[in-house]
Amino acid sequence: MIYIDGETGEGGGQILRTSLALSMCTGKPFQIANIRAKRKKPGLLRQHLTAVNAAKSLCNANVDGGEISSQTLEFVPSEVIAGEYHFAIGTAGSTTLVLQTILPPLLCSKGVSTIRLEGGTHNPFAPPFHFISEAFFPILNRMGANCSAKLSTWGFYPAGGGRIEVTITPPTEKLSILDLRERGKLIKAEALAAVSKIPREVAEDECNLITNKAAFPVDKCKIENADSPGPGNVAMLGMEFENSRVFFTGFGEIGVSRNKVGHTVISSANKLYRSKAAIDEHMSDQLLIPMALAGGGCFTTLHSTQHTITNIEIIKKFLSVEISCEKLSGEIWEVRISKI
Ligand code: ATP
Repeated sequence: MIYIDGETGEGGGQILRTSLALSMCTGKPFQIANIRAKRKKPGLLRQHLTAVNAAKSLCNANVDGGEISSQTLEFVPSEVIAGEYHFAIGTAGSTTLVLQTILPPLLCSKGVSTIRLEGGTHNPFAPPFHFISEAFFPILNRMGANCSAKLSTWGFYPAGGGRIEVTITPPTEKLSILDLRERGKLIKAEALAAVSKIPREVAEDECNLITNKAAFPVDKCKIENADSPGPGNVAMLGMEFENSRVFFTGFGEIGVSRNKVGHTVISSANKLYRSKAAIDEHMSDQLLIPMALAGGGCFTTLHSTQHTITNIEIIKKFLSVEISCEKLSGEIWEVRISKI
């Protein structure tokens, strides 16, 4: 039995998600205490409980403590079965964070899976759907997986109601090792600003600001009237380099101006562009698991976030890997994963 302290480092839901994912990949049971101890409302919220239940149905696990607000959990997995699954969070909780939990085991399973998820698709503090489809999956697919995602309905906080469908084909053998230290030349940069039940000009202004302030050419700026049950606004920018992808997001909310939303996106994008780092900070904590499952990989990023450092600690509890973070010149860090 592996023991996890949910108060480690970042002390949020990612510790639980990584533990569930790697427990299913390795078949190793675990117990976790102090779940989300460093969050305002500790314990399992709807989104985390959906992740626990999704994990349970994927591998017919024995679970103790899978209730709302629970701060402890025991999880004993069996074999992961690929197939068709449907998970509805029931609130605007993030669908992509539930996906974060079930994707690694399905990549280690023996067949193709199709997953339908309902909840939020573009939530603050979670990967927006387009980060997954435009940046994360393309990188993962270079490691031998074949994953694709379709957005049927946008889901914004607090109304939710979003729907996505993800198809996951595992690699023939196992995930392959990827070297993302050099990003290569910029191939294209595309922005997308979406609004639901708020004026279209908000998205137009965000797109204009992103294009005007970019330190690189923006090839396309798309404005979308998002079909969603509730109001929402998001501005995003994806950049494709010869050897990498990065993705930046700004969320509109009451009290946050459209200028601020646009600035959030373009200031992070310009910073990364000028730095020569290959991947952004969110990609870095999320790529650690597939790279650790591959038994190796490396990338350059802007700085090691608390999420990255915490995820490394949890990954090392389940897998025999060494993960180093070394500061190179300027603000760039190199993260290297290798088998022990
Ligand atoms: P919880 O609220 O469940 O405790 P948590 O603390 O783990 O969750 P966050 O720290 O906010 O949640 O982030 C969870 C994950 O979402 C991380 O993998 C992080 O990289 C990712 N993430 C957050 N914002 C973005 C973004 N804008 N783009 C891509 N990924 C993101």
